[in-house]
This record gives sequence, structure tokens and C-alpha cells, in this order.
Amino acid sequence: MNFHIMTLFPEMVTQGLETSILGRATEKKLITVDSVNIRDYTADLRHRKVDDYTYGGGAGMLMQAQPVYDCWKAVEARIHEKTTSPEKTRVIYVTPQGQVFNQHMAENFSKEEDLIFLCGHYEGVDERVLEEIVTDYVSIGDYVLTGGELPAMVMIDAISRLVPGVLNNDASAETESFHEDLLEYPQYSRPEEWMGRKVPDVLLSGDHAKVDAWRLEQSVERTRLRRPDLYEKWLAAHPPKPEKRKRRRKKESE
Ligand code: SAM
Repeated sequence: MNFHIMTLFPEMVTQGLETSILGRATEKKLITVDSVNIRDYTADLRHRKVDDYTYGGGAGMLMQAQPVYDCWKAVEARIHEKTTSPEKTRVIYVTPQGQVFNQHMAENFSKEEDLIFLCGHYEGVDERVLEEIVTDYVSIGDYVLTGGELPAMVMIDAISRLVPGVLNNDASAETESFHEDLLEYPQYSRPEEWMGRKVPDVLLSGDHAKVDAWRLEQSVERTRLRRPDLYEKWLAAHPPKPEKRKRRRKKESE
């Protein structure tokens, strides 16, 4: 899978994505990360300016349409050199005004061969170029950051983990939090006892069916307590059997 990141600060993104699991995935060519400096596409060759004041007044500078558009055209042309598909590559503008990113969106994006990210800075980007090139508006949460580089890195990290081969054990993504709207169960490593706290007996029993049942129960309970919004979704998809319903109601009233 190939990520193309349009940014004014390419070194920030490259450095952040070249270590650990994603660094190894890049070495193995499972993913590629191409950070493109929007400033290289400015028509203002003398000052290399990419931003200007906003019409109508107001604080701060806005990234201008021309450098962003020309940068996108160059990226899109590069992608189309290696594919015969006439389809436009999805362009994600990372913005606090977008739909909030989640695991389902990561799964959906991970099916693409190429993805283009546009990172805003300052007050953001001229609306006209957004209308022209953007296919998806995505936020990482309801707060405002100084630039789109961290949000792009967050999304690329989450998406890359779903590319086959990136994780040593692909199955681990299937037991992690948000799979089927549940949080992951608690986990323990050696020693069996630490500071007087023991690993639950069932995990030492060697009985895989019991371990699976315990983990599911823990996942459900943890989700109910920590993320009632997710729990409601999970519950709607897994209505309890009559005898379990009674027990669950009792627990919920506790
Ligand atoms: N003036 C913009 C507004 O009120 O919506 C905020 C601009 S912000 C200071 C600069 C850039 O940071 C944005 O263009 C966007 O790319 C990025 N950004 C900031 N917060 C973000 C968030 N929560 N999610 C995704 N991108 C964000």
C-alpha cells in the first residue's frame, strides 16, 4: 500500500514513520511513504510563498490553492504512471471539520492501493482547492492542532497495521480493541505474581475454550464500563439469550 502525504513539513512525517513496525514494513516494501513538499510547487519562485491573508479579514494565514493543486496533480500523475486504472485516488484532507476517524474507517481505507493525505497548516487551506481535489474529510478528534501532520501519521499508523504482513501476527488485529465494537480483554505476562497480584487462574489452565470464554466476558464487561456507547452497538448486534438477559440486567443495575 502506498501513502502519499502532501505537507509543508515532510521531514516531520518521514521521521515519525520510519521507526519500529512501520519502518520494518517500509523496508519489506509492504508499504511506501512518499512525503511531498507542497512548497516545491509554488508559482512564487522568488519567495517560495504558499500562504496568504484570508479575504474578509481574520487572524492568521491560509494555504493558497495553487501550490496545493499543482502538488496534487504531480502526485496523481506519479500514481497513474504505475497503474492503468482511470480511477481518481482518494484524497483525505485531515481536518477538525471531518468525520472522526475510527477502526471501521481504517479498515475501509486499508483496501486502497494508494491514498493521498493533505495536511493543512496555519488557518487551513483555501476552500476552492478542497472542493476540487478532496474525496474524504477526516478528523482525529474534537480538538484543534497546529497542523495535519500528526493526524496523517495517526491514520497511516492505524491503516498500515491492517495491511497483510505488517504485523508479525496478523490475527492480533482481530482480537484488539474495536474489533466487533468491543475493547480488548486484560492481558498479563510473566511473572505469575507481581506485587501480590496474581494472573487469573483460567489463563494458566491450558483450557483454550475456557480462556476464550473468559476473554470474551472480560471484553464485554470492560466495554460496558468504559465505553457504554460501543457496548450499546455490540449489544444490538448480539442480543443475549433469555437466561443471560436476566444476569446481564442484574449486572447493569449494580
Ligand atoms: N481553522 C481551522 C478550523 O477551525 O477548522 C483549523 C486549522 S488547524 C489550526 C491547521 C490544520 O491542522 C488543519 O488544516 C488540519 O489539516 C490540521 N488539524 C488540526 N486539528 C485537526 C484534527 N483534530 N484532525 C485532523 N486535522 C487537524
